[in-house]
Amino acid sequence: MASQSPTTGAPSATDLPDYAPVPQSAYGPALNEQGYYVGRVERNLYWVTDGSYQSAFLTTNDGVVLFDAPPSIGGNIRRAVDEIASANGVSKKVTHLVYSHHHADHAGASSLFDKNVIRIGHEETKRLLQRDNDPARPVPEETFADRRTLKIGGERIELAWRGPNHSPDNIYIHFPDHDTLMLIDIVNPGWAPISMSNLSEDIPGYVAAPAIALDYPWKHFIGGHVGRLGTRDDVTLHQQYMADIDASVRKALVSVDPTPFFQKYGDNPWAAVSALFDAWTEAGAAPVIEKYKGVLAAADVYTSSTVFWVMESIRLDLGFASYVHP
Ligand SMILES: [Zn+2]
Repeated sequence: MASQSPTTGAPSATDLPDYAPVPQSAYGPALNEQGYYVGRVERNLYWVTDGSYQSAFLTTNDGVVLFDAPPSIGGNIRRAVDEIASANGVSKKVTHLVYSHHHADHAGASSLFDKNVIRIGHEETKRLLQRDNDPARPVPEETFADRRTLKIGGERIELAWRGPNHSPDNIYIHFPDHDTLMLIDIVNPGWAPISMSNLSEDIPGYVAAPAIALDYPWKHFIGGHVGRLGTRDDVTLHQQYMADIDASVRKALVSVDPTPFFQKYGDNPWAAVSALFDAWTEAGAAPVIEKYKGVLAAADVYTSSTVFWVMESIRLDLGFASYVHP
């Protein structure tokens, strides 16, 4: 009999499912005692991680430009900046903070930086942050619509909005003089996306994003999650994973026969739809899990969830396998 926590009724750890081992290549560098790692990406561009989230910063002649402020890293962003600035004898004053998008898990430590920091983001980020009215995420004073080039302390940063993907406001942050692209919540280097394609709102945009990312020249990829940076191969592998999901879902949608589900649950169409969605998801996910187990970490944990969400987009956004009553 399964043992349960007497207080919550939750299963004990021993009852929880086992998953395929995580490939060693999915992990990044060890964290320090305070629970973070800070490393050089290229020249004066650095990245900080707590193993799950990532932030980045540029040290310049005029101060530090910060890119995202995930609350899970929180005060360690300041420590990482101080550590690098004092080691290199440059200013540790954060003068600018660029938001990749409005989500609290990447921006929720923004308020740790003072009011004099200039916050920069897409105009939709500003609108969404005004809507959300969260004191942890002050709205950006400086916004842009499609593209903006920042020149700060002699450094060049290219910001671009190329349509909705993970969120309506998610932007591409290109460092042309550092061979680096920062694009958050699309590709988790070495890992499968988490729930429902990294909880993405616009799946056609999410699926198109890696090709846009690969159009830029860069060597280093800052994805916002997991404990390591990415490479062009990581982005290509993710792109192939999503293409395989797309092909597998289309196959499942035309090969699983809905008839028995509606026969069984004739008086309860929601039960029929639920069982049919489950069957489509399972048929779509199985070959993809098989192919990527041991290749992308947690492919066996999260592929079904992403398959479900991509399947709904293929049906509802693209109209694939749409049935019109005669
Ligand atoms: Zn997000």
